Amino acid sequence: VLSLRGATKRFGGLVAVNNLDFDVMEHQVMGLIGPNGSGKSTTLNLISGALRPSAGSILLRGAPITHLRAHAIARRGVARTFQLVRVLPSMTVLENIRAGAVFGHRRRWGHEADAFATQMAEKVGLAGKLAMRVSQLTYIDTKRVELARALASEPRVLLLDEWLAGLNPTELGEGIALVRRLRDEGRTILLVEHVMDAIRSLCDACVVMAAGAKIAEGTPDEVLSDPEVIRAYLGEEDA
Ligand code: ATP
Ligand code: MG
Repeated sequence: VLSLRGATKRFGGLVAVNNLDFDVMEHQVMGLIGPNGSGKSTTLNLISGALRPSAGSILLRGAPITHLRAHAIARRGVARTFQLVRVLPSMTVLENIRAGAVFGHRRRWGHEADAFATQMAEKVGLAGKLAMRVSQLTYIDTKRVELARALASEPRVLLLDEWLAGLNPTELGEGIALVRRLRDEGRTILLVEHVMDAIRSLCDACVVMAAGAKIAEGTPDEVLSDPEVIRAYLGEEDA
């Protein structure tokens, strides 16, 4: 469904993403892992159109989306959550999620948008909180709002940037179970994550990045036992 071909992003002299190639297949959960600063969020930003690549191309169902703006990419079916949660705190849960239904891949209006947003709120565990302002919610609930907004757009590909980060152990268990349900529904997900238990239990395949480049690709068990990957996590890749 989603392909990166030589995707590269430079910030001045820094190559944050270096000639990256990978494919995410339909109904696949692909993990994107790597140490801090290895270029994972920048990669999601390139895919979602928040940043333009310096070189290379990004294809959605074979068609280039490389130079489209973020809203056009969202309309074609790419939805995401952010590492630093982006929600509208003064608006209600329903209003936030509804925005996904209205501006997303399959546009819905009026009653239909409300009904679908409500359904997505229930799916992520926010039933009963629809009328609350997002500023009144706990951290995990704001993360649920962001996920529900992405789901409300009915994406072809869902990009999750450390959606499980910052949760306590109970919440983490719930969060993993929630992503597993999304996987079981057959959704296509690119999962940026540091929680290795989540990677092992959720991902069909993984791409490992270090210093902007892909250093390994394979099943979670394969890549997590690869000595080069372990060295990269220990910060020895330049030694
Ligand atoms: P983390 O696990 O900490 O979230 P990451 O893998 O998501 O890390 P990125 O946020 O993609 O890493 O950053 C990759 C590199 O690009 C880092 O060196 C970062 O400082 C740099 N970088 C990211 N965004 C910008 C920007 N807008 N301008 C300049 N440099 C940037
Ligand atoms: Mg990041």
